[in-house]
Amino acid sequence: MEPLAGGRLLDKHGRIATDLRVSLTDRCSLRCSYCMPPEGLDWLPSASLLTDDEVIRLITIAVRDLGVQQVRFTGGEPLLRKGLARILAATTALRTATGVAPDTALTTNGVGLATSAMALKQAGLHRINVSLDTLDATRYARLTGRDRLGDVIKGLAAAAAAGLSPIKMNTVLLPGVNDDEMLSLVSWALKRGYQPRFIEQMPLGPQDTWQRTTMVTAEDILDVLRSEFTLIPMQSKARGSAPAEIWMVTGAEVPEDFVATVGIIASITKPFCEACNRTRLTADGQLRSCLFSRDETDVRTLLRSGASDLAIAELWRGAMAAKQTTHGVDEGSFVQPDRTMSAIGG
Ligand code: SAM
Ligand code: SF4
Repeated sequence: MEPLAGGRLLDKHGRIATDLRVSLTDRCSLRCSYCMPPEGLDWLPSASLLTDDEVIRLITIAVRDLGVQQVRFTGGEPLLRKGLARILAATTALRTATGVAPDTALTTNGVGLATSAMALKQAGLHRINVSLDTLDATRYARLTGRDRLGDVIKGLAAAAAAGLSPIKMNTVLLPGVNDDEMLSLVSWALKRGYQPRFIEQMPLGPQDTWQRTTMVTAEDILDVLRSEFTLIPMQSKARGSAPAEIWMVTGAEVPEDFVATVGIIASITKPFCEACNRTRLTADGQLRSCLFSRDETDVRTLLRSGASDLAIAELWRGAMAAKQTTHGVDEGSFVQPDRTMSAIGG
């Protein structure tokens, strides 16, 4: 089929979405306290989940017809998705308007990565983010509800051995839980050639697990890191649509030829909504224009009604046109979305 002429996901504030986040499942092998309740959630019924072919068709429309250039797979835990390698391979076989494969990335908790890293690389995965919040096994088990720290560490090593690069290590700091590990996490990651990234905790977990007044902020993190390392800003203040602010780190032990950086994603204290280029697809086929959105657009029903690619692309464009200006977390009127992070796809 011919691509749509001039198709792109433009919103009424002039932002163009080129970065697609695809949630492949709402299920997870962990229960991180800031993301999911310990008892889990009411999982999505299987009939409502997009099939592998449906996911591939929607990604194809996004890349071929709507200007998407980057695709990140997430969840829930995307490694739990049986068809992951097939979906990845189909994605990396696509070509953007400039004739290159879409930049393809995955965010995982790393449990199960030891046995899947090579297959992911072979399926064409370009980049990987592995979430790790503590290096203490007892704390890890308490924070995630599962005793799997060793598996994650093996998973990171397997990703490096498979040649996935860069490997970013995502950490959410919780006050009084793991905020004393900033320096040790950075040193540990850099020594192994992983790039540490701190994400400010967002109000997207179980109700009452987030407090604006006590959350660990980007400034708190920078203060601690500067006590041990020299940090040199790598980007101008205008960080474009990249959510992380990046600093080059000196003073840490690193592998030869490795450029040590640390990133901070200050979604709460320095929101990047103005430059946001994201569009999201949930595992049950709902389009979201924002992580914090309370509205979704049902593309699954249209897809299953036999609609053309053109009709699906039009629906997607309409969904993005209405994107909210900003997440508004700091505004009194903010109401947390019904779905938690794991069900939206972080
Ligand atoms: N299960 C995978 C993982 O943990 O990497 C992928 C999904 S998870 C929702 C994606 C990222 O969102 C992880 O790095 C996780 O730490 C982060 N996350 C989850 N809940 C969050 C919250 N309330 N605030 C900030 N980041 C959160
Ligand atoms: Fe699962 Fe990732 Fe949420 Fe942790 S952050 S519960 S690993 S989806």
